[in-house]
Amino acid sequence: PEEIRVYEFAEKMNKPVGEVIKELFSLGVMFTKNDFLDKDSIEILADTFGVNVTTVNDQEAFDYVKAYDEEGEAGEQNLVERAPVITIMGHVDHGKTSLLDYIRSAKVAAGEAGGITQHVGAYMVEKNGRNITFIDTPGHEAFTEMRSRGAKVTDIVIVVVAADDGVKPQTKEAVEHAKAAGVPIIIAVNKMDKESANPDLVKAQLAELGITPIDWGGEHEFVPVSAKTGMGIEDLLETILLQADLLELQADPSREVKATVIESSLEKGRGPVATVVIEDGTMRVGDIVVAGIAFGKVKALLNDRGLAVKEAKPGEPVVVLGLSEVPGAGETLISVKTDKIAREYAKKKAEYLRQKELSKSTKVSLDELSDMI
Ligand code: GDP
Ligand code: MG
Repeated sequence: PEEIRVYEFAEKMNKPVGEVIKELFSLGVMFTKNDFLDKDSIEILADTFGVNVTTVNDQEAFDYVKAYDEEGEAGEQNLVERAPVITIMGHVDHGKTSLLDYIRSAKVAAGEAGGITQHVGAYMVEKNGRNITFIDTPGHEAFTEMRSRGAKVTDIVIVVVAADDGVKPQTKEAVEHAKAAGVPIIIAVNKMDKESANPDLVKAQLAELGITPIDWGGEHEFVPVSAKTGMGIEDLLETILLQADLLELQADPSREVKATVIESSLEKGRGPVATVVIEDGTMRVGDIVVAGIAFGKVKALLNDRGLAVKEAKPGEPVVVLGLSEVPGAGETLISVKTDKIAREYAKKKAEYLRQKELSKSTKVSLDELSDMI
């Protein structure tokens, strides 16, 4: 039987396809209109749009995150500014990795203890006494991997376009997804050191996609940069901070932690290791946390340079040690009051995943879906 594509699903739901893509993006999953939907996404979408196609009840497993949010809304708020979280996207070979590497190495003082020792999936740099967090996983991959329920991990998307190559299919995709989700876009026009660089062509091509530069009367910042020479990188960081000011990003460091898992792995001698970005609250060594099927007492926290720290604040990336399992990317991590609660939640989640695995063999077809709605 035929599977269902995003636009077909939208037609069935009587919704504009953009709305469906936007909804998926807000859940941390990137789809274009021609992509096939997986069963998970169909279930989530059906839930969002109030139709009943769900075969597995995941509500219980996620209630605790909702309870966390409600507690925060009800309680006293001590909101302070938090660091913006940035994802870099763009066409292959346009310089995403080079840009991240340049920013990181330029911003870590030479000889600083620890140096850049390892890849941790996200890092933070300082500019004008403020912090900026970069998610250091290939943008597209990270987004598609993240099946977090409602956790938005990116505040601003930087779309890198090589000035000697112009707009390419993945550039368009990145723009499409960021636009649909309402995440602000900054364009980094890269490889400006090259003789063949043609920034005006990049501007014209993006203007056609509705991303018009400010100097052409539009609303989007285009920052000419070179990840090779470092030209324009400081401007790019300043532009990020200006954009962050507009977003008025805030969090309450006095409350219990809520974070999003960016990357995770099982490491020899260290066990399950997860890199998270703190969304709200403060995480401390000794906290009892749960992230999907993983739970445990935080044994150690490492910063983006692999150095042990006692706590991590909103907007900060941190590596967590002490979990019972490897949590999935995109999973929400929160702290709970007792070990018993943590175990209970993790068990529920495991049960849910097992049930879902069992029902996976049945691919949802167009026909089946029309039966269900
Ligand atoms: P990614 O696929 O987007 O991560 O692109 P990479 O960062 O791997 O870069 C692809 C190629 O372009 C590499 O050979 C880089 O050295 C080169 N590159 C990246 N940025 C620049 C730049 O600003 N100027 C020049 N001349 N080359 C660059
Ligand atoms: Mg790369």
